[in-house]
Amino acid sequence: MKKAPIIWTNVLFFSLTFLTAVTLVPWYGVTYGYEVSTWIAFVACMFYAGLSITAGYHRLWAHKAYDAHPVIQVIFALGGAFALQNSALHWSSDHRVHHGHVDDPIKDPYAATNGFWFSHIGWMLRDYQGEKYGDYSNARDLQKNEVVMWQHRHYMKLVLLTNIGIPLLLGVMLGDVIGMLLLAGLLRLVLSQHFTFFINSVAHIWGSRPYTEKNTARDNGFLALFTYGEGYHNFHHIFASDYRNGIKWYHYDPTKWMIRVMAFMGLASKLKRTPVERIERAKAETLLNKTQVRLAKLPLAQDKLTLLHQEYEILLKKLQGFCSVQKQLLEAKKNAMLAQCDKHALLKQYQELEQAFQAQKQAWLALNARLLKAAA
Ligand SMILES: [Zn+2]
Ligand SMILES: [Zn+2]
Repeated sequence: MKKAPIIWTNVLFFSLTFLTAVTLVPWYGVTYGYEVSTWIAFVACMFYAGLSITAGYHRLWAHKAYDAHPVIQVIFALGGAFALQNSALHWSSDHRVHHGHVDDPIKDPYAATNGFWFSHIGWMLRDYQGEKYGDYSNARDLQKNEVVMWQHRHYMKLVLLTNIGIPLLLGVMLGDVIGMLLLAGLLRLVLSQHFTFFINSVAHIWGSRPYTEKNTARDNGFLALFTYGEGYHNFHHIFASDYRNGIKWYHYDPTKWMIRVMAFMGLASKLKRTPVERIERAKAETLLNKTQVRLAKLPLAQDKLTLLHQEYEILLKKLQGFCSVQKQLLEAKKNAMLAQCDKHALLKQYQELEQAFQAQKQAWLALNARLLKAAA
């Protein structure tokens, strides 16, 4: 089959920015040195560009995981141009196709099934999309968004304005123009682009799959450190409209924390969270499938399979029981008419059912670990 034509502008752009970043930046550092303030500005610019992509392009526009005040949207639109990852409209449209056809080697624009290089950067180096490039029919909602369309129309102007203007302004303010252009301009651009690209490549190759094994997306806490929390990609692919990617409080997800702070300040609203029941169910089902597949390879595993299913059913029942009381409790809290003692009784019941669920969950995990070990 004939290969798609090379997009030379992209090839030259990615190669030249990468080569100059790995040569000029260290050379200038060794010869003249960088001020501490220039490094601080570099980190701030990394976060500005990175979070504009994760909180803005990704969770706000591509997935509609929450609503944001127009001022925040303008800040993200400028930061997205600063990150130089195409307009929010184009990025979101591509990303929705990625979720809808994940791993399909033809339809998924950055399918991980086509290998590391393709999913990381190769997909942008050849004209694989052809006529579909400007098809935004899956983003009609965004075509009605004034900020998104304003950024789309003036994208190249905004790219130049932010990528030259921000480092130049910071350089003049802090008295190190060339150092700032190199760190906050060039190095920041190359790093922030590759950190985002890691989500399409590494986060579909390296890590665990606790929520679903139906696609290649992985949870990877280490990668989350470089991607403003987007390393929890296995969770994200199954519950894409959740404003969080790392759901545990200790998961490093600064995008989630920022959205929560914005909500607290009244700048974000309608934060979507996946109910605990669905999350726990997905985890239990994934583990059940994994253990079943392993047991199927063993002779005379019928007893073990029966036991596994029995424990799975008990787990789901306990989960259901605890979640239904949780719902009642939430409604009771809103109901001012309900007597305090009734609320107390409900709370006590909730705590007992949660404990029963947690105990069953531990037993379930231990059983799976034992069976998986035996089948290893
Ligand atoms: Zn993905
Ligand atoms: Zn996504």
